[in-house]
Amino acid sequence: MAKKKVQEEHDVPVIMERPVTIDGFFGHARQVALLGRLLEKGMVSSSLLFSGPASVGKASLAFRLAAALQCKAPLPWACGRCPSCLKAQKGVHPDIRFITLEVNEDTGKERKEILVRQAREDIIGHLSLPPYEGRKLIFIVDPAEAMNAETQNALLKSLEEPPAYAQFILVSANAANLLPTVRSRCQEVTFGLVPQKTLQTIALAAGLEGAEAKEAISSSAGAPGVIFSGSWREAAKRRERLLALLQFGLQAEQYPKLAPMMEELAKEPPRAVLAEALRITAEARRALSLKGGGPNQQMSKAAKARGEHSLSRIAERLAEAPAHIERNVNPRLLLERVFLAP
Ligand SMILES: [Zn+2]
Repeated sequence: MAKKKVQEEHDVPVIMERPVTIDGFFGHARQVALLGRLLEKGMVSSSLLFSGPASVGKASLAFRLAAALQCKAPLPWACGRCPSCLKAQKGVHPDIRFITLEVNEDTGKERKEILVRQAREDIIGHLSLPPYEGRKLIFIVDPAEAMNAETQNALLKSLEEPPAYAQFILVSANAANLLPTVRSRCQEVTFGLVPQKTLQTIALAAGLEGAEAKEAISSSAGAPGVIFSGSWREAAKRRERLLALLQFGLQAEQYPKLAPMMEELAKEPPRAVLAEALRITAEARRALSLKGGGPNQQMSKAAKARGEHSLSRIAERLAEAPAHIERNVNPRLLLERVFLAP
């Protein structure tokens, strides 16, 4: 049952098609070229790790790579027309499997970890049998860093010596949280933020124009997924609030203004808040290192108000935040600890 619910919430529902071809995938030209060459030579490593910031397109490219590995046409990337591609596109290819966070049946909430049971039942349990119809049996694990230590350890052997037909693609926005033993067994493909010019093309493709496009691009902060999903409207608010925390967090007299912002942020998905907090902190540090403070006025102001030492302390505290989130530390308290301390 739990599995079915997750399917509905996380995987693309069967009725909604998911693109498999490489055209329509924006940005990351270097990574696309690298993977294209590996596909052409049949040299895609059986254990891949896609790492980099959230919502930049890692999962989307992982899926396109999976479709390409199954595609019947002799092209490096998926043709989008053969029976295999059509199944992948509809989300019903039996040999492309997703391992993600389940919904806890007791609480109705998404679990915070990928459990060892999932690794045993959904991965290891299938590895002894070859693919049903595809060339490969593909497991996309996303978010991979949500695998707890037990889950990761259970997968070590499979990652190191998989059967010839197995393909793992771990997708992670926080690869530092993976066990070094897992990370070292994978070929890592790193992703960065998408540049402004590409974001403009993406906004256009998402049907946005003028002021809306501008706002979507700015709140996406280099993460196209934010534009495509429409979550930029919430993201814009989230970013605004986090920027205020960054800029005024050390000024005690601003607390009455910041408190309701933290209340609102605490209601949001913790990982989305954390990802944005990491982004703006990195941007602020960049702004500080640039002469004249960089193009974004508000960001420069926030960066100056904090200074390099405080920004690096915030980055350290944010790096520890996932562990606190896992231990169910009150999100409101966590925000105070991260932003209201020097
Ligand atoms: Zn095809």
